[in-house]
Amino acid sequence: MPTAEIITIGTELLLGETVDTNTATLARSLRTLGIHLYRTTTIGDNAERIAAVIREALTRADIVITTGGLGPTIDDPTREAVAMAAGVSTEFRPELWEEIVARVAAYGRTPGENQKRQAYIPQGAIPISNPVGTAPAFIVETRDEAGGLHAVISLPGVPREMEYLLHHAVIPYLQQRFHLEEIIKVRTLHTAGVSESVIDEQVGDLETWSNPTVGLAAHSGIVDVRITARARDEAAADEMIAKVEAELRARLGEAIFGVDSETLEEVTLTQAARMGWPLAALEHGLDGALVKRLHRRPLPALLTVQETAAVQGEALRRALEDVCQAAGAKLGLAISAWQDERMNVELLVRTPQGWHSRHLTYGGHPQNLPRWAVNMGLDQLRRVLVKEAGQSGRTGF
Ligand code: AMP
Ligand code: MG
Repeated sequence: MPTAEIITIGTELLLGETVDTNTATLARSLRTLGIHLYRTTTIGDNAERIAAVIREALTRADIVITTGGLGPTIDDPTREAVAMAAGVSTEFRPELWEEIVARVAAYGRTPGENQKRQAYIPQGAIPISNPVGTAPAFIVETRDEAGGLHAVISLPGVPREMEYLLHHAVIPYLQQRFHLEEIIKVRTLHTAGVSESVIDEQVGDLETWSNPTVGLAAHSGIVDVRITARARDEAAADEMIAKVEAELRARLGEAIFGVDSETLEEVTLTQAARMGWPLAALEHGLDGALVKRLHRRPLPALLTVQETAAVQGEALRRALEDVCQAAGAKLGLAISAWQDERMNVELLVRTPQGWHSRHLTYGGHPQNLPRWAVNMGLDQLRRVLVKEAGQSGRTGF
């Protein structure tokens, strides 16, 4: 398996003005291709420094992908930097210049003299024409002392252009040139309300498989079960994943609430919306964790979420009843945490069918208590909804 490094170029990235999304996009594609990514670097628009990090990356990695610094201005130094790193100069490529002229002409303009810079690429580079922007990209191949192939692939910084060239030129190039016969696909099942050790007991035998692999990652009450398959193509990987997923679902059942980018709050409130039960929620002792969580993105069925002074028992029940009445909510959720000799969490769910309450004690780091309590509370609500949807014959999950 070849190894890769990513270098994102742009002073705006170092100043925190632009968030580096290109690294994540590239990392996901490399993972799918089965290329090992060992390191990523962000560097400002300075030709010497860029050349130095490229040279260094080439001592470790087979493939170095850069993004950014391919614009037409002096402060876009990637062309010069790659040439410097490869020990060559840049050369004017008339065919690239013609493409730039044609593309700018399509907008009824003629390119400025500084745009000519974009038609210079390192000597001997393989050009990648850019139909979605003006900056041509390029690949420089080098050989190490042992004769091994290394490639520096330079892509534009604009994420949309970068992604287009990645899919249309870079991935086919890598597959062919580095003989990538396999791809890697990942699917993550999210579980809640069951500890990592319990999940581990239930699926431990699958964790010893080598392809697909099954791995666990716990985050405060949520445990992710990641399935990773290596196969000749996506369809084959999907088939392998589907088999393991069916087995995991049979064993973990209701603990699984979602896959990949689905979140516990989205899944739970979508179910509430499906049942026509808008939600009012209360929290106590969580530093606003539930409010923040439910306000992170717009969610269906959410009427209100507030902090309450009520701590537990009858007082908490009355506070939840009051806020449900006031908001016209059919569904209520209260999550309350307090400390005596232990850290306590009370979960209260109110539905048109009745009340469900649960008392838990927490043994982790106090700093993680709010997150854990919110996950346990949302999961409690989700499980009550699944059960009541089943009883009333509505379609559930
Ligand atoms: P450049 O190719 O350096 O001229 O970059 C053009 C624009 O793309 C910059 O102004 C940024 O807004 C954006 N950009 C550059 N690098 C990145 C990156 N790593 N992630 C996201 N956006 C980027
Ligand atoms: Mg730039």
